[in-house]
Amino acid sequence: MKTNLLHFDAEGLVAFCEQLGEKRFRANQLLRWIHQRGGSDFDAMTDLAKSFRDKLKVHAVVQALPISRCLESADGSIKWLFDVGGGDAIETVFIPEQDRGTLCVSSQAGCAVGCRFCSTGHQGFSRNLGTHEIVAQLWFAEHALRRRFHTGERVISNVVMMGMGEPLQNFAALLPALRLMLDDHAYGLSRRRVTVSTSGVVPMMDRLREECPVALAVSLHAPNDALRDSLVPLNRKYPLEELLDACQRYLLAAPRDFITFEYCLLDGVNDQDQHAHELLARVRQHGESGVACKFNLIPFNPFPGSGLRRSSPDRIQQFVRILSEAGIVTTLRKTRGDDIDAACGQLAGDVQDRTRVHLRMPLHPVHRLEEVAS
Ligand code: SAH
Ligand code: SF4
Repeated sequence: MKTNLLHFDAEGLVAFCEQLGEKRFRANQLLRWIHQRGGSDFDAMTDLAKSFRDKLKVHAVVQALPISRCLESADGSIKWLFDVGGGDAIETVFIPEQDRGTLCVSSQAGCAVGCRFCSTGHQGFSRNLGTHEIVAQLWFAEHALRRRFHTGERVISNVVMMGMGEPLQNFAALLPALRLMLDDHAYGLSRRRVTVSTSGVVPMMDRLREECPVALAVSLHAPNDALRDSLVPLNRKYPLEELLDACQRYLLAAPRDFITFEYCLLDGVNDQDQHAHELLARVRQHGESGVACKFNLIPFNPFPGSGLRRSSPDRIQQFVRILSEAGIVTTLRKTRGDDIDAACGQLAGDVQDRTRVHLRMPLHPVHRLEEVAS
């Protein structure tokens, strides 16, 4: 069995090189070939000794994931559906903007958290992705986009772990992937430009803070435990008080001086004035100094069988207004890629049909962050 080198961060690759009887510094050379130049053909890595290349050819491979589908939106967003075997598919989305290119990456096939408003949650949990499967999404997207745009320059400037899955329930595989994203010999992204989004796995928020603090987004969705219990079942295990405490601890090491709270607006469920006011009180009055935060409001992206509706545009604006007038920076995610999402909606109708499971796509909306207040 050959080892897929996308599996290794710098430390892992050093160990692998040493196993092959090679010097440590070879690892950095190899990292640059693979991640900066998109190389997968060892013969082309001409500054590596021929003997080393021969060993690599026997023991290693740089292997992307098979693509099941690629959907392109008129607005430039691109969604890839990758086949991860066993009938499972994951999605990766590229969102171009004027000043940045963001890649939305998946961490699991399915998700065990089971949030009510989330299509992935409704599908249930299939399995954790390995580090190589998380990294393969970035490796493939970055180099495919460079070829497409005929550029040698970096295309992806930001990564958000907001695709399928709960990244902090796959911490062991996530950690080396994050390290690679930050490594100057690989993707060299700053910690502020790599965001982990979590539904609130408190102990793992602490691990992330200790081992690899990157920007953090926390999916809040409700201002009190009763409502949050019903939307994000994990809240029963880690209620708001504990979650907000963990946010405050995270801030001590975070590369940004705020936590981004995500809040999916659901018609008549969590989108009333009273919810916005309660939310303000909750984050402002937590602990001695409140939690330094920004809000990112997400209009619900409907899918069949959810039984939920998107809030009206007026309601959304009013919610934004209450938070921003209270002085909290609040952004509204403008849905992008509506046309390709629509295609997903149709595909997701097949959820019961295991034989067509590879055609299913989660329904996380393709978004653009739009600053509405600062
Ligand atoms: N599991 C992590 C990261 C992936 S979900 C988390 O929950 O944070 C990324 C974001 O998309 C989360 O904030 C999630 O709440 C939101 N989301 C999921 N389904 C959605 C839907 N149908 N409409 C709008 N936002 C959704
Ligand atoms: Fe999982 Fe996030 Fe979806 Fe909740 S919103 S089910 S945590 S992917």
